[in-house]
Amino acid sequence: MSQLKAIVFDMDDTLYPERDFVLSGFQAVAAWASVNLGINESIGSATLFKLYSEGVRNNTFDRWLTIHGIERTEIVPNLLDIYRQHLPNISPFPEAIDLLKTLDQSYQIGLVSDGYLAVQQRKWAALGLDRFFDAVVFSDSLGRENWKPSTAPFKLVLEQLNISPRLSVYIGDNPHKDFFGARQLGMYTIQFKHSTSEYGNHQPPSPDHYPHLIVDSLAEILGSIYKIESLL
Ligand SMILES: [Mg+2]
Repeated sequence: MSQLKAIVFDMDDTLYPERDFVLSGFQAVAAWASVNLGINESIGSATLFKLYSEGVRNNTFDRWLTIHGIERTEIVPNLLDIYRQHLPNISPFPEAIDLLKTLDQSYQIGLVSDGYLAVQQRKWAALGLDRFFDAVVFSDSLGRENWKPSTAPFKLVLEQLNISPRLSVYIGDNPHKDFFGARQLGMYTIQFKHSTSEYGNHQPPSPDHYPHLIVDSLAEILGSIYKIESLL
């Protein structure tokens, strides 16, 4: 009989590879630009992927327009809108479905996800995992100030599940924001680091930002949960 009652997940880079969302957004931007800016679509998407794989994150579209000889920075907000509003072509990590099916037999399952509400909701719909989840919290619905590492979205999901933090685990990828708020409440935390993880190898900014346990694959999550059970 399990002593833990709830397993709560992050979404981006925990239930699916976030890189796939980025790539599908780039494809949408490249498709728009081929019609409206005359940039060849496959070349356009290839140069976006190249900038991304070189580590460019904040001014990608400015640099991309420059590479294609278009000096029109005023259209960057349009490109960002297309990126954020596109219908994401994303799927859960292959092991995620089996893991959720197994967990569903013994635990309540929740989600706490950061990011712009409409964007996160589109991703959630595309993943098709809602049937496994007993509570879904998008922190943006509580206001920007309540994005992780705020404790507010964790409190809300546990209230909805009606479960004490001490009987719950949060699973996420990002040491900057996934474990601090959850730990402040008394939740257990597990970091999932996969091979294309954006933040997996970042150093936690303080001792309070560390997870309790770290795994490299979703298949190891069950073992970690049992390890936590044995400590209770
Ligand atoms: Mg994440």
